[in-house]
Amino acid sequence: MSSLLVVGSVAIDSIKTPFGERGRCLGGSATHFSVSASFLTDVAVVAVIGEDFTAQDEAVFHERRVDTSGLIRIKGGKTFFWAGEYGFDLNTAHTLDTQLNVFADFKPTLSDEHKNAPYLFLGNIQPTLQREVREQSNAKFVAMDTMNLWIDTTRDELAKTIKVVDALIINDAETRQLTGEHNLMKAAKSVLSMGPKMLLVKRGEYGAAFFTKDSYFAIPAYPLEDVFDPTGAGDSFAGGFMGYLSQADQIDDATIRRAIVYGSIMASFTVEQFSCDRLRKLQPNEVLARLDQFQDFTQFDLDPGMGIVVHEELAPGAV
Ligand code: AMP
Repeated sequence: MSSLLVVGSVAIDSIKTPFGERGRCLGGSATHFSVSASFLTDVAVVAVIGEDFTAQDEAVFHERRVDTSGLIRIKGGKTFFWAGEYGFDLNTAHTLDTQLNVFADFKPTLSDEHKNAPYLFLGNIQPTLQREVREQSNAKFVAMDTMNLWIDTTRDELAKTIKVVDALIINDAETRQLTGEHNLMKAAKSVLSMGPKMLLVKRGEYGAAFFTKDSYFAIPAYPLEDVFDPTGAGDSFAGGFMGYLSQADQIDDATIRRAIVYGSIMASFTVEQFSCDRLRKLQPNEVLARLDQFQDFTQFDLDPGMGIVVHEELAPGAV
């Protein structure tokens, strides 16, 4: 049985970045998520594809031993299509085209095995579909993503879905858009008042921040010189995060902090090439090497033993 289940889009993407373009490539929230999570746990995907989805597209899931028994192929249908472009600021994707195709009539039904996966990720799709999956699942920990399209067009449905998950994993622009708050700390408070116990904010090249009602944790992004295509960064972050949690099978502060680091590292590989190309070649020792470096550049000693003080005699009111 898989420990982690993801429902989301399996897509054909068309991508333009300042460094190149790819006309037709494998994409989708569930794709990037499951390929990333597969480095850490057994993962199953629930999604829908059309007849145009090729054996080569599907091979990517098989290479990573992702359980595709929940991947439904619709006869005569076309796979979900997304076209996106990134300008000089690689943190923001501009959607050029979205064709729901087979997703327009998708009614996800979980098998008994999938219902019992202990960890569930509701990848970015229409929020009503996400909730339908949540309602069928017996998972003990559920996280979800969303995007500007659903905040704009289906806000009430989205709020109902956010209410029934443990963790919301979205980017900083989405956090601001969802709450109408510019300040991230205030926006986080507002998100947590909508129901979830945890909020994870993906901040692109600036890293990620984690909020609960009474704790805060943040890390930088892995420092990369060459970011080639940011598509899938968010989903592979979530895949690394949920993959680690499901392997550890423990939800406490220390485990969550480590899971966030794994998420960042998986995302750092994804953005080095188009589609899943980099993760398809990724070796486990490369993940461990980045983990080591990450620990190195985020650690500091509180007291270097040099007797450094903050000068009290210059405190306001002291002179
Ligand atoms: P991200 O990880 O946020 O970069 O998400 C990238 C993936 O999201 C792409 O591969 C797209 O196929 C997928 N995507 C874009 N728009 C939508 C949408 N409206 N619903 C579901 N998936 C989407």
